[in-house]
Amino acid sequence: MPYYMIPPGGHQLPPLPYPYNALEPVISSTLLRLHHDRHHKSYVEGLNKTELKLAEARQNRDFSLVKHWERELAFHGSGHILHSIFWTVMAPVGTGGEPQTNTLNMINAYFGSFPAFREQFSKAAADIEASGWAVLIWHPTWRHMEILTAEKHQNLTQWGGIPLLVLDVWEHAYYLDYQYRRADYIEEWWKLVNWSQVENRLLWALQAQIPLYT
Ligand code: MN
Repeated sequence: MPYYMIPPGGHQLPPLPYPYNALEPVISSTLLRLHHDRHHKSYVEGLNKTELKLAEARQNRDFSLVKHWERELAFHGSGHILHSIFWTVMAPVGTGGEPQTNTLNMINAYFGSFPAFREQFSKAAADIEASGWAVLIWHPTWRHMEILTAEKHQNLTQWGGIPLLVLDVWEHAYYLDYQYRRADYIEEWWKLVNWSQVENRLLWALQAQIPLYT
């Protein structure tokens, strides 16, 4: 059966789905340009380099540096996928709409209410020590959403969860615009959420059925 595979070293930086100034005034064009063109790009390049180094190691049957490359794989791979999702779950202020049917039903079913969900997500993001991410996932085994935080981003803790909504709280994501005021950035960031993309991601995730016991 033919299947699509990104070959080792074959990752590409996805273009932003909007112009650099599209998220103003919440995120400035200067910041977004740096974040996408420098930070995200370096994760893509790092991931490609790492995959090629590991392919080379397999060819030479020399795994003496595998611990290093596995760390690089987690660091750059997580950086690439989380940024790729981050760009698409945001949209210009006033265009992202409201949480849609399935998203809202799943949020209400597990978190009790949308305000309770939003408050937990914001506080979880604000309280991450140093760099990290807040991530809303669909867990295909628990069959419910969960809010997780990842310190740095290679340490995402609940393997098997599917990210639905992600918020970058590394300093490079807000410092230029908000300095130390991370909570202000988070509060403003909600204006950018692209709820139709969150709904798309949930519908894709719901197709995964991975039981705990078979
Ligand atoms: Mn970032």
